[in-house]
Amino acid sequence: MHYDVIVVGGSYSGMAAALQLVRGRRSVLVIDAGERRNRFASHSHGFLGQDGEPPGDIAATARRQLEAYPTLTWLEGRVEAVAGQVDEFTVTTAGGDSHLGRRLLLATGVTDQLPDVDGLPERWGRAVFHCPYCHGYELGQGRIGIVGANPMSIHQAELLTDWGDVTLLVNGALELSQEIRSTLERRSVVIEEAPIDKIEGHADVRMVDGRQLRFAGLFTATRTSPSSPLVEAMGCALEETPMGIQVRTDAESKTSVTGVFACGDVARAPHSVSLAVGNGAMTGAQIHRSLLWPETVAPVQAEGRAR
Ligand code: FAD
Ligand code: MG
Repeated sequence: MHYDVIVVGGSYSGMAAALQLVRGRRSVLVIDAGERRNRFASHSHGFLGQDGEPPGDIAATARRQLEAYPTLTWLEGRVEAVAGQVDEFTVTTAGGDSHLGRRLLLATGVTDQLPDVDGLPERWGRAVFHCPYCHGYELGQGRIGIVGANPMSIHQAELLTDWGDVTLLVNGALELSQEIRSTLERRSVVIEEAPIDKIEGHADVRMVDGRQLRFAGLFTATRTSPSSPLVEAMGCALEETPMGIQVRTDAESKTSVTGVFACGDVARAPHSVSLAVGNGAMTGAQIHRSLLWPETVAPVQAEGRAR
């Protein structure tokens, strides 16, 4: 089978793209390793019509609806290698099977690099979060701790004052100028300089000086980078954002490699299910367009300003 499109990554953005393509009666192979970024969270918020639903349920409903289309093929597994060029891409899975496709969509998501704090990783998505719009409301305007990680932590501390009383736990990770201190103080952010020993209980922060600071929840600014080494193996140009590294794409979701598209968290920021789905739907239509009018498939420039 020579598929019109092979989608690597069958989560929100990849499925949203696939849906447009199968509705355009194109043949689509989705290959998914099943490691959605939000798999650590019990509930997903802020996605219209699905607010508060378990993230796995949202994905499962989408997959069931997608699999009803006869031109959709779904494979559970991990793509390990990609070769070839536009109209003749070959992807090879961990199981050793190869598949041929005319276009390739990378919807492989990003991985969060968490700050190195004892007790933080096991609370990720349950009591420690990164996105105020996703998990801020549920903290009921209680006390919020920001675990310092990088300059984005300062922005996070300012932003979260609309969700509760904020303490910025510097933890040796931030340089705070007098100007920044004044800005934070104007917003009533408490600045805590003592290093963190560990996180215990629900979201209780034990400082090295022995004090325990109790919070309704904690936030931290993670650095994100593409989950899959495929984007680099393909030679797709990357770019920096305030959140981390992503694949460079243009407004049509084309990467710097002809015939390779990217969407969702791996290609744009900020990150949410709504934005991944919206970007995925647009990308599906753009890939369809590139199949109908192959002359439009020229890649985005690898150098220069991103759009
Ligand atoms: P992902 O959902 O990350 O999916 C990428 C998929 O690609 C995965 O299934 C992965 O296994 C697969 N994949 C990767 N490499 C390969 C490969 N080589 N072969 C095959 N498959 C591969 N957003 C909200 O809107 N509301 C929330 O409440 C919310 N809560 C969150 C909580 C936490 C803890 C985190 C970390 C994020 C949260 N988000 C939330 C953000 C949300 O998870 C992302 O924006 C969204 O998942 C992005 O969708 P995506 O399709 O781009 O990527
Ligand atoms: Mg882009």
